[in-house]
Amino acid sequence: MISWKRIVIKVGSALISPNRKGCSTKYLSGIANFITECRQQGVEVVLVSSGSVAAGAQLFSESDRSATTIKKAMAAAGQTAMMATWDSLFDFPSAQILLSQADLCERDRYVSIRETIFSLLEHNIIPIVNENDTVTCDETKVGDNDNLSAMVAAAAEADALIICSDVDGLFNKNPNLHDDAELIPQVHQIDASIYAMAGGVTSDVGTGGMQTKIEAAEKATAHGIGTFIINGMKQSGFDMLSQGKNPGTLFLPYPEPMQELVHWMTHTSMEQGEVIIESEDDIDSSEPITSNDVLEIRGEFSVGDTVLLRSHSGKRLAKARANYSSCLLNFITDDEHTSSLATQFEQRTGPILSEKNMAVLEESNQ
Ligand code: GLU
Repeated sequence: MISWKRIVIKVGSALISPNRKGCSTKYLSGIANFITECRQQGVEVVLVSSGSVAAGAQLFSESDRSATTIKKAMAAAGQTAMMATWDSLFDFPSAQILLSQADLCERDRYVSIRETIFSLLEHNIIPIVNENDTVTCDETKVGDNDNLSAMVAAAAEADALIICSDVDGLFNKNPNLHDDAELIPQVHQIDASIYAMAGGVTSDVGTGGMQTKIEAAEKATAHGIGTFIINGMKQSGFDMLSQGKNPGTLFLPYPEPMQELVHWMTHTSMEQGEVIIESEDDIDSSEPITSNDVLEIRGEFSVGDTVLLRSHSGKRLAKARANYSSCLLNFITDDEHTSSLATQFEQRTGPILSEKNMAVLEESNQ
């Protein structure tokens, strides 16, 4: 009954460590059984598991737990407990992948993550992914595993993302405050009205709430990946999924998904700097950007980094991979004396931003 080829299942902290007393198998055994069933039916599964901070909490005194260094220590200690728990529930091997926004942002590292996931799957090993909380700071972290799971689903080219939470799905209003709140079974298009429904529904245990789940659905569906939000505490939900039914909210995939590189630039990679160009209008996606177009270079970036292309009036036009570093660009686009130098460089090495490595931003992504 299961028709997927490859899926990503995201499990939130509330299911892993419901009372912050180490890792519990209470909800994980049902999820592990569903994963096993999927694999038996030939579906490849990647698991994105939160819970390291929650699982490690009991090892530290309550008064210290809000300190950043202690949180990182909780994550380091809880991660081994969490991996050991998952491993004990599977009769096949598992592998740990810890990553950060900084890893996903850099194309070479992103490709390496993709290749590792594919290799593991080919060898019937389940990849278990989490953010590497010990090494990240605010600038280098995704920050929540909902968004991380969507980036992983895109990297793994999954055809479904299943976000297991402690709520039944997306409701038209906050179900904790309104008795008449209704579950929305299907979302065709994610817009401001959908975000408004998310309100401030948050979990006591993990980092994410409904807002980050919708952000994740937006990222995943743009890549053609149908996204479910389901209640991972209810066995009936997994039984329904096994029968091809939707137990929660299903966000339908875009009918015309973005290509992989364009998706990565739009939803995963973060811009390291900006290239300001003269144009006011939308840019032509079939034309490269050359040094003649450039008014200003902002920030510091290296070759291969993602940069934002902005009009001089401030409009976000596109994201692109830089063919030159900001240092070199500042030098060769500095004044008219160096413009012939810039042309020479471009004749040899190509335009500063190639149209092949450019994602023109749609209105919704600006
Ligand atoms: N990486 C965090 C952890 O393992 C989870 C982040 C989240 O709850 O989304 O605890």
